Amino acid sequence: MSLAPSALPIGIHHIEKRFGALSILSDLSLDVAAGEFLTLLGPSGSGKTTLLMILAGFVRANAGSIKVGNEEIITMAPHKRDIGMVFQNYALFPHMNVFHNVAFPLKQRRVSAADTKQRVDRALELVRLQGLGERRVDQLSGGQRQRVALARAIVFEPRIVLMDEPLSALDKGLREHMQIELRNLHRRLGMTTVYVTHDQREAITMSDRIAVMNAGRIEQIDQPETIYARPKTKFVAEFIGESN
Ligand code: ADP
Repeated sequence: MSLAPSALPIGIHHIEKRFGALSILSDLSLDVAAGEFLTLLGPSGSGKTTLLMILAGFVRANAGSIKVGNEEIITMAPHKRDIGMVFQNYALFPHMNVFHNVAFPLKQRRVSAADTKQRVDRALELVRLQGLGERRVDQLSGGQRQRVALARAIVFEPRIVLMDEPLSALDKGLREHMQIELRNLHRRLGMTTVYVTHDQREAITMSDRIAVMNAGRIEQIDQPETIYARPKTKFVAEFIGESN
């Protein structure tokens, strides 16, 4: 079963972002292919989250263009974008049950009750949480919460999914398990995915391509094996070398 109607490419061109006098992203351009799983990999402070927030519409760029398919979205409100988002800390509503958490984006989009039920059930099945709709989120394990966040991100069948260190709060065993699950889910649904991590192993395991970021710029963008075999800059060579 495929949830995504059809994947769309993302064209990110000449993005500038400053906070006060500080330049965070400078002339950043990046093309993500339709259905690709692309990872932004880089040290803390390199601008990964800022770029993701600009894609999601929560942070406004000072200049540049973002096209999804043929549509310019740079000034579009976040909930109008065809984008699902998963954050590091889940950002779920702890007092609400699983069903209502997952249904939230559908409510925002005024989807009917009957349709909502059907879509939430299907999303919960995809993340293997079927039957847990009535459970309160604060009664779930970390791994289950992360799956709820994932179900919420895909329930409205977005053509793009953004994930910001979604597994970093989980312990090692669960993290590795979820990496495989996320990868399988991506294979099944085929949505264009931009994934943020500072964990090289995670990037290698999961990505079609990796964009290595440093100080607000992309140092190299290539398939994982190319990044490792042929780092193009000293920074990439050193960053990749660090944990090997
Ligand atoms: P990463 O995700 O790679 O760790 P971030 O995008 O979070 O990097 O941050 C990049 C830089 O932008 C950091 O130096 C950070 O301090 C700065 N920054 C992020 N958000 C803000 C903000 N709202 N105001 C000022 N500086 C910010």
